[in-house]
Parts: sequence; C-alpha cells; structure tokens
Amino acid sequence: MTAAVVTSALSKRYGATAALAPLTLSVGAGQVFGLIGPNGAGKTTFMRLLLDIIRPSGGSVRVLGEDPRRGGAPLRRRVGYLPGELRLESRARASELLEHYARISGPVRPGATERLAERLQLDLGQQVGKLSKGNKQKVGLVQAFMHRPELLVLDEPTSGLDPLVQKEFLALVREAKEAGQTVILSSHVLSEIEAAADRVAVLHKGELVRVGALAELRASQRRRLRATVAASTALEGALSSLERVSAVSVVERGAEAQLSLLVEGDVDALVKALARFEVRDLLIEEPELEETIIGYYRGEPS
Ligand code: ATP
Repeated sequence: MTAAVVTSALSKRYGATAALAPLTLSVGAGQVFGLIGPNGAGKTTFMRLLLDIIRPSGGSVRVLGEDPRRGGAPLRRRVGYLPGELRLESRARASELLEHYARISGPVRPGATERLAERLQLDLGQQVGKLSKGNKQKVGLVQAFMHRPELLVLDEPTSGLDPLVQKEFLALVREAKEAGQTVILSSHVLSEIEAAADRVAVLHKGELVRVGALAELRASQRRRLRATVAASTALEGALSSLERVSAVSVVERGAEAQLSLLVEGDVDALVKALARFEVRDLLIEEPELEETIIGYYRGEPS
C-alpha cells in the first residue's frame, strides 16, 4: 500500500517541552487513521507539522509524497484541514466565506458546498461570526471536504457537534474512504471516532504509546464491570482465578453482593463464570481511555 503520510523521527520541541517526541509512522493511502490522546498529547502539533503551520525540530515528514515545506499551494490544495481551534469571526455569510475558501483550495464541484451544508444542517445564509460553536465547526468541515482533497486532516472534528450531526460526519468520512481519500482525525475520546477509524495511534505527553488496528487496541483495553449478584461465598474465588481479570471487589449487602472488577479485552470467560451465579444487574463501563493510556505509558502489562 502506498503511504499518504510518512514520518521519520519527526519531533517538535518548545524549549524544554517535547510537544512531539521523535515519531516514526506511516498512514496508508485510503486509510482512516485516528489520533487519540488526552489534552497536551501532541495531536495538534502532529497535524500542524503535516500542514507546515509549524516546522519540525527534527526528523522528516512526507505528505502525499512531498515535503510540506516545499509543497506550497499545490500541495495545500490536495489537503483538507480542519484546525482544532477554529476562529471564525467574519461578518460574511457562510456561503461567501466558503466561496472565498473555494477560490484558494478549489476547484469545488458545482453544488458540492450546498450538499455538504445540507447534510450537516448548516444554514449558509447566516453571518459566520454569529454562528454557534457547533455551526462554526460545520463551516470548518464543509471547507475541509468540499474540494474532495486526497488527504483530510481533521483536528477534533466532532467537538461541538450534536449526536445526529456527528453521525452524518462519520458517514462523510466513510464515503471519503470509499472514494479513496485518506483521513487523519483526532479526538480525546476513542468512542467518537472508533466507528470510522481503521488504525489508531495513541499519544501521551508527546510520545507514541501505541499504534495498531482498532480491534487490537480494544482487545487490550481494560473495562470495569459492575454487577449485583445473589450473595455467594464462592463468588470472589470463581472470579479471581480468571485470567485477565483484576481488582476484584465484592461487597455483601444482605442477600446481595455488589461486584466490581477490571477485565481486559474479551469478556467471554468472565460472563460464563458469572453465569453460574444469580446475576441481578450487570454493567460494563466504557474503557477509561486515559487510565489505559497511562497504563501503557508506565509499561504496565496491556
Ligand atoms: P489538546 O487535546 O489539548 O488539543 P493536543 O494533543 O492537541 O492537546 P498539542 O496542542 O499538540 O496537544 O500540545 C502538545 C504539547 O505542546 C503541550 O504540552 C503544549 O502545551 C505544548 N505546546 C503546543 N504548542 C505550543 C507553543 N506554541 N508553545 C509552547 N508549547 C506549546
């Protein structure tokens, strides 16, 4: 597979801060690649390096086969970019601003802007500066997608979007992939982009902690399971002996026991072990991404 983005020991320092520690990775053409990490992880820094908004302190990067420093306007046209902190204070209408962007990054196919706006429920007649945060985000998304760039770089694209629009956005990403476009998108919440991403890189404090297919990442995530079970002295023993189950706590309340534990990856063995008891309530929580990442970071078993 040809690569849309290749980095080799790419790094960025701000004084003593390593915003991005030397990072070597490649994003295959036609992939949807997710960047996940808590605040300050280096996601924005990585994206700005791809766009030549900032310059590397070390290493190299190729975007669509070119050095972003030398690619200039022709390379910029092949990329659609949604910045993380989108500031749109213009008094122009959304349609006018998008026409302006189209002159810079176009050509844009006739009707493409309007179709995108309709799908994202954006009123193009509104003054941009007066739009809500979510609606400004939609203007940003329309300008990133409208010229059908070969590469989309989207910094926190779902932030501020309501669930329905988030769903439409994910459909746009899937369609972009079907059309052979490459998409790099960031989020600090895995669940927001997992429906779209083929591969995910986890960043933490500028370091690449993990990169792999989403299924691999999921399989090694620890989730908390809580259950209410009819009290049984055999409960704790039955669960503690299971592999990939840790931090088992059983608190008896009369005839019931409140159970809490951490399970890593596949829950099948655990569910079968639990099924031998009378289960009255069961909850498996969304993995705490931050916890998991910090676990990787410290080199704890994953
Ligand atoms: P967030 O989710 O909060 O947007 P992020 O993963 O995008 O986080 P970055 O914005 O890439 O993180 O920041 C990485 C690190 O680099 C942070 O510690 C940040 O404070 C630092 N940093 C970023 N830009 C600058 C700058 N211009 N000057 C100094 N430090 C910076």
